[in-house]
Amino acid sequence: MSRFTAVKTFDFRFPTSNTLSGSDAMNPDPDYSSAYVEIHTDADDGVKGIGFVFTIGRGNDVVCKAIESMGDRLIGMEVEPLLDDMKKAWNLFVHDSQLRWLGPEKGVEHMAIGAVLSALWDIKAKRAGKPLWRLLAEMEPEELVSTLDFRYMTDALRPEEAVEILKEGQKGKAERIENLLKVGYPGYSTAAGWLGYSDEKMVALAKEESQVKGFKQIKLKVGQNVDDDLRRLALAREAIGPDVRLAVDANQVWDVPTAIEWINRFHEFDLAWVEEPTSPDDVIGHATIARAINPIKVATGEQMQSRILYKQYLQANAFGIMQIDATRVAGPQEIVLEYLLAKKFNKPVCPHAGGVGLCEAVCHFAMFDYVAVSGTMDGRMIEYVDNQHEHFVHPTVIKNGNYVAPTAPGNGTEMTLETAEKYLYKG
Ligand SMILES: [Mg+2]
Repeated sequence: MSRFTAVKTFDFRFPTSNTLSGSDAMNPDPDYSSAYVEIHTDADDGVKGIGFVFTIGRGNDVVCKAIESMGDRLIGMEVEPLLDDMKKAWNLFVHDSQLRWLGPEKGVEHMAIGAVLSALWDIKAKRAGKPLWRLLAEMEPEELVSTLDFRYMTDALRPEEAVEILKEGQKGKAERIENLLKVGYPGYSTAAGWLGYSDEKMVALAKEESQVKGFKQIKLKVGQNVDDDLRRLALAREAIGPDVRLAVDANQVWDVPTAIEWINRFHEFDLAWVEEPTSPDDVIGHATIARAINPIKVATGEQMQSRILYKQYLQANAFGIMQIDATRVAGPQEIVLEYLLAKKFNKPVCPHAGGVGLCEAVCHFAMFDYVAVSGTMDGRMIEYVDNQHEHFVHPTVIKNGNYVAPTAPGNGTEMTLETAEKYLYKG
C-alpha cells in the first residue's frame, strides 16, 4: 500500500509569440504554455504521475493554482484503492459540489481536474508497464465503462451500449495493435498555416510538410481578410498539388452569417474542412453553417468544454468532423466517452494537437480508438506541429507523415525538467 505524498505544479511558458508561430485570427501572439503537474507517492517504484493543461500564456498561473488547490485533497490518501476505482477519483473532483459551482464541469476547474486525473491515469499506466493507449484498449469493456460518468449522457449513450461498442471493438484487436505498431497513425500538419507568416514562408513550409515530411493534409489559418485568404489558399493548393488535402481553421472568429458568406468563397479549393467557424458553444450556429456550406465540412471541438456539448453537436448533426483535445475536459475518462459518442453517431474524430505536449498526449486516445472503438483510421488523422517536442522524455515521433505509436509506459507527457527549466515563468 502506498500513499500520495506531493502534488507539484510548474508554470512553463515558451516565447512562441516572438516568431508568430501559433498565430491565427483570434490568437495573434500566443506564448505556448503548460500548467504542468507531478503527483508523487511514497511507493518504491519512483513513479511520478504527470498531467498538464495547455494554455497560450497569461492565465497559466491560474490553472496551476487550481491544480494545487485540488491536489491537496490527495495528500495522505492511499494510492491503490483510487487507481483501482477511477470512477471514485472522478467523483472526488468532478462531483465535489463546492468546486462544481465554479463550472459546472467546464472551464479552469474542469481543465485542472483533467490534469490531476491524467496524472493518476499516468501512474496507473506506468505501474501496468503499458502506454496509456494500450492500457485503455486492454481493459475489459465492463471495467473501462465502470470508470465513466453517464450522467447527462443516457439520452444519447447508455452504459450497456458503451459496453457493446467496446465488445465489438475486441474483434480483430490484436491485428490492429500489430498494424498500429508497424505503420503508426496518420498525422496532418499545421506548420505552414500560421497567419503571421509571409506567403513565401507559407509556400516553402507547405511543400516541405507535404513533400518531404509526407503529411497527406496541411491546414491554413484564415479569417482575418478574405482577399488574403483567397490568395494564400490558391498559393497553398498550387504548392501541394491536388492530392494532398487542404483544410482551413478560423479559430472562432466569425458570426454565423459572416462564416457562411466567407466560407462559400472557398469552394474552388477542394477543402477537407473548415475548423471552428464560430463560437464552440454555438451548436445551432454550427448546424446552420454546416448546412449552408455543404459540401465543405465543418470541424470543431478543440475548445468544447464538456461531453455534454459533444452530445448535443452529435444529436444536432452540427459538424462533419469531430475534434477532441487532450486537456480541455476532465481527463481520459471524459475523452473515452467522447470517442464512444463519436462511434455511436458514426463521426470521424480528428484530434486537435500542436501546442506544447498536446501531440504527445492526444495520440494515445486516437490510438485507443483505432484499436478498441472505431477500429479504423479512415478519414481520421491527428494534428501535428513541430513545437517543443525536445522537452519531452518520450517525444512524438513522425515517420512518413504518421505518428509512431508510443511504447513507453504512461501517458507520454513527462517533460525533461533540465531543459524545460529555463522556461519556468518567473512573473
Ligand atoms: Mg484549430
